[in-house]
Amino acid sequence: MTVTRLRLAPVTHSPVLPVYARQDLTFVRGEGTTLYDARGRAYLDFLAGIAVVGLGHCHPAPLAAAHAQLDRLWHTSNLYWTEPMVELAQRLSLRAGGARAFFCNSGAEAVEAGLKYARKATGKPGVVALSGSFHGRTTGALSVTGQPGKREAFEPMLPHVLFAEPNDLPSLEAAISAETGCILLEPIQGEGGVHVLDAAFVAAARRLADETGAVLLFDEVQTGVGRTGAFFAHEHVGVRPDALMLAKGLANGLPIGCLLVFDDAPEGLVAGDHASTFGGNPVACAAASAVCDELTDEFLATVTTNGLVLAEGLAALPGIREVRGAGLMLGAELDRQPADVVDACAQRGLLVGTAGADVLRLTPPLIVTTAEIEQAVVVLEEVLA
Ligand code: PLP
Repeated sequence: MTVTRLRLAPVTHSPVLPVYARQDLTFVRGEGTTLYDARGRAYLDFLAGIAVVGLGHCHPAPLAAAHAQLDRLWHTSNLYWTEPMVELAQRLSLRAGGARAFFCNSGAEAVEAGLKYARKATGKPGVVALSGSFHGRTTGALSVTGQPGKREAFEPMLPHVLFAEPNDLPSLEAAISAETGCILLEPIQGEGGVHVLDAAFVAAARRLADETGAVLLFDEVQTGVGRTGAFFAHEHVGVRPDALMLAKGLANGLPIGCLLVFDDAPEGLVAGDHASTFGGNPVACAAASAVCDELTDEFLATVTTNGLVLAEGLAALPGIREVRGAGLMLGAELDRQPADVVDACAQRGLLVGTAGADVLRLTPPLIVTTAEIEQAVVVLEEVLA
């Protein structure tokens, strides 16, 4: 049999559906905080696959764990147990102070699982989410995403969804009723523009959920797994949800999503209620356990200190109105179009992203050094000057 190798089509004639506004860059290799294109040009990656590659590209710990698991077993289905899936669930339970996991393959899927859990646990259909939130692109997750522009073309979406304003308690109180089964929050809104929820607002959401018999669900898809300097971002505000969702950083770039239901939360899903063929994939779970083991308290402390260094560097730059976020999940509100800044940075070998309308998003690998932070700030200064 002759195997013909396909030549890569130019990006403008891509065989891929055009749902992304991609930059004209193709990467072939990554190491630590650096990505390389086909010509060997290095780019300092301050986006990390949008807050995914927390330990940096090809980090030896998840790499070795995934390699070893690839040699042993790839897939069994969820008709059976696998060791990596159970070991990861145990690690996450320990971090959460007692919780049980459902594994899937992405953030949106984890949100879907969370919505089904809330419905089943309370028997109530209503969801109160926040304006400006982002929970994913599947129909359920999009229905609870507080960005009308993303939902518009796909209306009608799920009914019984109301949006309250972030950090506005009267607005949250007004949205909650006897039919509310779920209050859904991102501790820090990511895609919506890096907006941090106040501790008092999150605590009030907990109180309102308890008073009305709703479950409190935290979307930690972006904030979780060390991104903000704590394993879970809700640790910063000291409010425990009933359940939370993880994805992005969990397996350092292999696809995985997770719904974690805390042990003291209402019972919800039972056998037959939910499923995912690939959920709990042994290779992804083995990599994820290796990620969890790297996120020691000492490591997380460096995320906090390096985040402060980056935030201070950004705050001193021209054209930046405000710097928001925690740890290495930062947004810099600009006085100009962020897309132009992103392009100019890429031309100078620095990868950054955008969030919301006017925010430059910086989510470098959590292993970033202060020298690399200084390097990035110098490039941004050149671009913004
Ligand atoms: N929830 C949050 C907070 C996110 O930031 C994202 C993605 O950016 C999602 C859910 C959706 O995750 P995924 O793209 O893996 O489906």
